Amino acid sequence: MPVFHAGFAQGGAPVRVHFGRGARRSLDRELDALSLSRAFVLTTPQQVREGEDIVQTLGPRAVGLFTDATMHTPVDVTEAALKRVAASEADCVVAVGGGSTIGLGKAIALRTDLPQIVLPSTYAGSEATPVLGQTENGVKTTLRSEKVQPEVIIYDPELVATLPVAMTVTSGLNAMAHAVEGLYAHDANRLSSALAVEGIRAFVSGLPGVVTAPDNLAAREDTLFGAWLCGTVLAQVGMALHHKLCHTLGGTLNLPHAETHAIVLPHAIAYNEVAAAEVLQPVARLLDSGSAAGGLYDFAQRMGAPLALRSLGVTEADLDNVADLAVLTPYPNPRRIERNGVRQLLQDAWLGRRPFSS
Ligand code: NAD
Repeated sequence: MPVFHAGFAQGGAPVRVHFGRGARRSLDRELDALSLSRAFVLTTPQQVREGEDIVQTLGPRAVGLFTDATMHTPVDVTEAALKRVAASEADCVVAVGGGSTIGLGKAIALRTDLPQIVLPSTYAGSEATPVLGQTENGVKTTLRSEKVQPEVIIYDPELVATLPVAMTVTSGLNAMAHAVEGLYAHDANRLSSALAVEGIRAFVSGLPGVVTAPDNLAAREDTLFGAWLCGTVLAQVGMALHHKLCHTLGGTLNLPHAETHAIVLPHAIAYNEVAAAEVLQPVARLLDSGSAAGGLYDFAQRMGAPLALRSLGVTEADLDNVADLAVLTPYPNPRRIERNGVRQLLQDAWLGRRPFSS
């Protein structure tokens, strides 16, 4: 792989990142810095309390709260939120939540150009990317635009400390997937690879501490830092087979996002490790394993992650269709995409058995 020999250019829309315990309480200062005074707050039905808390923090600068953000950013939800935003005469949106809430903020920004301040509460990494996936009539399409890159990210470990352990684990593996695939991306560069290795390191060292003590803020802080690094990798380079499979599985079978990533990751990496062993070596080393794929599987198992697609309700009969769709328009990938090999890796992921390369 010509990773270290290719030249590269780097840079996108400027982003201010504020990191620290209780950082959400300094929202006022972030608004001041951008000369903003009318914030519209977004969240999900499950995080109404967090949304109300941010409204309270903002005081008179909060001009509305919308709590219907949902996975895959359905356009009808965006349109409902847009009506409320317009009526409130907001001059910015404040998203508090995971990828679903941040996706809604991005969809609003795309249509209004309003600046976004985001407070992530999962490790998914959407806040760090200029990417937006939206769903209309059951079809999900993805776009890349500087208009959707949030202007300010406030990483407050206290917000992610409420994430239940099971979701913490799958969300962490979701973040690691961005970094692991980033290592063999066709457009990887020295910077993206350095960020990827540090991102993976943050989760390998921090996630066990979070699982044993979910409100350990130091471990939450380390893993949140990892989420930023992994999300930044996702923003910088193209993803490959693993993300293609997860998008196909999620899109056709409506599977939960983070869990799907967690299960598929070791198997997609096993498929690609044959062709990208050298760039994946740091992953194997960090996980103290003979292979990246085996190490990722063992780590997921130790963390208590789901391991088998069948546990998400996928049937064996679904796998043929997913394999057909995933090979139809593949993303650039270090190993040639072969339908039989992809079908076999799906079988392994469905059964939940440790990938062959141990
Ligand atoms: P999510 O935002 O859908 O959250 C899952 C559930 O957990 C929701 O009910 C949410 O309210 C709840 N939750 C979130 N944080 C919590 C907390 N701290 N405490 C308690 N409950 C909490 O999950 P996600 O995995 O963060 O996001 C998935 C979505 O994000 C998908 O639609 C995916 O496509 C998108 N995504 C986009 C990008 C991008 O770059 N565009 C990157 C990653 C993910």
